[in-house]
Amino acid sequence: MKPYEPRAIEEKWQKTWEEQESFHVEEDEKKEKYYLLEMFPYPSGRIHMGHVRNYSIGDVIARYKRMRGLNVLHPMGWDAFGMPAENAAIERGIAPAKWTHDNIAYMRKQLKRLGFSYDWRREIATCDVDYYKWEQWIFLKMYEKGLAYRKSSPVNYCVRCQTVLANEQVEDGTCWRCGEAVIQKELTQWFFVITKYADELYEYCDKLPGWPEKVLSMQKNWIGKSHGVEVDFTIEDGTPLTIFTTRPDTLYGVTFMVLAPEHPLSYELAKGTPYENEVRAFIEKVRKQDRTFRSEINTAKEGVFTGKYAINPLNNTRVPIYLGNFVLMEYGTGAIMAVPAHDQRDFEFAKEYGLPIVVTIAPEGKTLDPKTMEAAYVDDGILVNSAHFNGMKNREAIPKIIGYLEEKKLGRGTINYRLKDWGISRQRYWGAPIPVIYCDDCGIVPVPYEDLPVVLPTDLEVKMVGRSPLAEYKEFYETVCPRCKKKARRETDTMDTFVESSWYFLKYTCADYDKGPLDKKRVDYWMPVDQYIGGIEHAVLHLLYSRFFNRVLKELGLVDAREPFENLLTQGMVIKDGAKMSKSKGNVVDPDYLIEQYGADTARLFCLFAAPPERDLDWSDKGVEGSFRFLQRVWRLVDEQAASWNDVEAVLAYDGDDKDSKQLVHRIHKTIKKVTDDIDRFHLNTAIASIMELVNAVYKYIEQDKLVLKKKADDEVVAVPMHLGFLKGAVETVLTLLFPFVPHIVTELWVSLGKDPAGLGAVWPRYKAEYVIEEKVTIAVQINGKLRDTCEVERDTEEAQLKEIVFDLEKIMKHVEGKEIKKTIIVPNKLVNIVCV
Ligand SMILES: [Zn+2]
Ligand SMILES: [Zn+2]
Repeated sequence: MKPYEPRAIEEKWQKTWEEQESFHVEEDEKKEKYYLLEMFPYPSGRIHMGHVRNYSIGDVIARYKRMRGLNVLHPMGWDAFGMPAENAAIERGIAPAKWTHDNIAYMRKQLKRLGFSYDWRREIATCDVDYYKWEQWIFLKMYEKGLAYRKSSPVNYCVRCQTVLANEQVEDGTCWRCGEAVIQKELTQWFFVITKYADELYEYCDKLPGWPEKVLSMQKNWIGKSHGVEVDFTIEDGTPLTIFTTRPDTLYGVTFMVLAPEHPLSYELAKGTPYENEVRAFIEKVRKQDRTFRSEINTAKEGVFTGKYAINPLNNTRVPIYLGNFVLMEYGTGAIMAVPAHDQRDFEFAKEYGLPIVVTIAPEGKTLDPKTMEAAYVDDGILVNSAHFNGMKNREAIPKIIGYLEEKKLGRGTINYRLKDWGISRQRYWGAPIPVIYCDDCGIVPVPYEDLPVVLPTDLEVKMVGRSPLAEYKEFYETVCPRCKKKARRETDTMDTFVESSWYFLKYTCADYDKGPLDKKRVDYWMPVDQYIGGIEHAVLHLLYSRFFNRVLKELGLVDAREPFENLLTQGMVIKDGAKMSKSKGNVVDPDYLIEQYGADTARLFCLFAAPPERDLDWSDKGVEGSFRFLQRVWRLVDEQAASWNDVEAVLAYDGDDKDSKQLVHRIHKTIKKVTDDIDRFHLNTAIASIMELVNAVYKYIEQDKLVLKKKADDEVVAVPMHLGFLKGAVETVLTLLFPFVPHIVTELWVSLGKDPAGLGAVWPRYKAEYVIEEKVTIAVQINGKLRDTCEVERDTEEAQLKEIVFDLEKIMKHVEGKEIKKTIIVPNKLVNIVCV
């Protein structure tokens, strides 16, 4: 008996796969392609359990699809520009390039030790000049097409990181990277015109059925498309003051107006009035507040009266004009009409500043008294106090009022977006230089294509100076104008690292191509990505930018596909002791330790078995032990039993009368079907559970030790074990089904059965329909002993799967929501009772 020694086995097969180039892939028009992509890591130094989980899920799918006969592209690379490299340089005096490349080397080794089936020839590091030179090329094309422009504007700025942040990188008013409160700063910046695609990006959210609903609604919300109307109010001196509203049905209820403090009129209005000083101080104060913070529901609404009034064009009412911290210049026109009766924010503001409340929508058959209202009435109803629109349902009145405004030339219907252009300038060193030169005479001069790349110098000292270290480095910024040949200065900002991650998936398809950014023929063979796997934290950053960038590259004729990612799986986090694993919480489990102790196969199996991919995974040492024990059990099954059946032919059929044999054969086929269906739906944990049950069934069958009488060629009748044929079939099935999950141990065992390892990763088992007759049973679902629902499931559904089905029942979800589940009692094929408090 050989002991199971994972490290030796794993090293051996990893080496073999590498030597045999097992995962190299080329375009093949005769084969159906499958592009499987996991979000590439930032080379921070070491991979963490979140990576192990993400890439284990991906590797199962990649190996499985290969076994199903698909031509699978499965690449890996490095999102290698960014701040930590620069910070390491400042803190420890290591050059960012060296720090990054050392980390990549170590992490690549870690990934290889986990046996992931990548085509390493396609590896990309975005900090390599061969990569970013083409990004600079794309930038120049975008500049030519008016998709990149430069302007001065207030920007989000992180004092700690000393750089600008995109709106998408500000979370609850703080820096997404370091948590520092974000401030506003006026800077000249480069922008990408993502707003040009706002409508398309929004509308195509409905054409991505393979994406999680949650991600799509986050993107839609971020793009923020709203139908509304611009209404021309006038200030008493005749100056027009146009506002945008999505609720023209409340126009007769306007009792004041609010301008963003940044509105060009805001200070002008107060000039010469007794309110001038107060207004000036208010503008100064709000300027420093973060915009995301200002627009949050819970932020205190602050305002100041400007001393001026505006006229409502519909009813000629005179209303006071205020400035308010909750109005943003970027949305609509930077001015809003306030309807306290029907908007809670306006209601609170009116109460605070003693402004009138006029009801214009009432619930059907009722009246509302503004004096006794405790909150705004925000539901639908019937128009009142609204002149000739009185008595209409408010939703039906909206298009009528827009029509009326257009007819009287008092306003026009519009569509508004919350999405703003993407500011890509970063005042940091470790990024791709923006390929632009500034000349006193010629202004902005793009670097000529033939002068690319603008190489990031790697021989300068990196310091924290509040602007790009490149701006201190003459050898970089001093240059001559390509047009007039006079002395000129290079742009010293670098591009946001999210630019690199917006097109890396395209470069993988043709990583060795150097005649242009992309080899269209290869790109079009592989794109779109069939399955993308990564964290939900990228819902509006990377995933939206990539959809935008892909469209730009389509316009440049570099790619045919409109959408880059056909299907998206967002995996949950790895949790330990109730919190996300993180260095700061001190609850990190190092993958190296796990591999050292148990081997890569156990690490993979645990990550895949402990939770369905989309849910959070709760770390458990016991769970790791359990996964390791299961692999030992499989090892023994082959080593102690199957290895001696070399001359037996594996069969997956049985037509005799023995009940146990019949059952085992049925079980094999059912397991094949179940694992196939489960992997197709990403239910990897239940797939593993059913393989485990098949292993149990095989052990049980072996213990029965049955004999059968057989006629030999010379008519002599002998007693032989009747089970060896389909026992061997069962064992081979177990190994084949396990292969995508734990490829090393399976390959070793496969070879010990005298079989060719090359055949293992090439064929997925098929089940016979006649053995998979489904028998349904009705399960009573109880909560604390009380019948709440029933459901139909297949007879002998495993406990894990049954639980999943039951907890997905709508009625049950409602009943257990917010409660603590004490235990779940299962009576097979009859009943599930959930005990909760
Ligand atoms: Zn920061
Ligand atoms: Zn010039």
